[in-house]
Amino acid sequence: MFKHVKDMEYTVHVDKPDPRFAVLLLEQFGGGNGELTAAMQYFSQSLGCNDPKIRDLLQDIAAEELSHLEMVGEALAMLIGPVDTLPQDFPDSHSALLGGGPLLINSGGAPWTANYINSNGDIFTDLSSNAGAELRAKLIYERLLQQTDDAGVKDMIRFLLSREESHNFSFMQAIETLKGTGVNKDFRDSDFSKKYMNMSTGQGDSRGPWNQGNEISYETDPNQKYGSPAQYGQDPNPNSNKEVAPGYNDKTRNNPNYNQPPQQTH
Ligand code: MN
Ligand code: MN
Repeated sequence: MFKHVKDMEYTVHVDKPDPRFAVLLLEQFGGGNGELTAAMQYFSQSLGCNDPKIRDLLQDIAAEELSHLEMVGEALAMLIGPVDTLPQDFPDSHSALLGGGPLLINSGGAPWTANYINSNGDIFTDLSSNAGAELRAKLIYERLLQQTDDAGVKDMIRFLLSREESHNFSFMQAIETLKGTGVNKDFRDSDFSKKYMNMSTGQGDSRGPWNQGNEISYETDPNQKYGSPAQYGQDPNPNSNKEVAPGYNDKTRNNPNYNQPPQQTH
């Protein structure tokens, strides 16, 4: 059940209309990393989430993102100014012609779309998407901060980016509690999942924790070892578990010689 309270999560103050900045701020109203996207992503993920604790996390943050949408929308309305008397040089023609209120479009005028949403029904994957989404939201707010001198707007943006940091922290902590579950189960238990392929060869080959330590074997010249990239997918021995760990129980994976079981007939 949803209710609406006529208080803002944060009361927005805008000194004077600023249509140019309003168009930039639209990115966080109807853009791919904006507040509507965050709210819809976490809410739709929560509906398919069977872990009650994670469901609660998703619904708490989804509800807050709707509050952010309201704050950004109120700020936009004040920055745009009177909707029926937009100046002739108003920077967004779409808004100017359609009425000038905050539209669910991004800063380039493209309409909001559900294609922005990442919801895959695997909690580990979904929370990983969300942690990245919060970083993108924070980054855009940091860039928006550079584009206005309005003290009230700057203060609102600082509040919002602090909240996105908080959300990122919560999602990252939740991911830690889910190690070994969902898509993260069986993670890195095949030989191929512990290899680093040096596919871009020549000057500038570099090493770091992404390709050394942590049980990683560094294949200096994979083409020489495996023949060519096209051969990676073939098990050297179709009946061996050498490259694919037993837990997968998937003899079809990477095995062109696998004999399909006979079709069931009545
Ligand atoms: Mn937000
Ligand atoms: Mn957030």
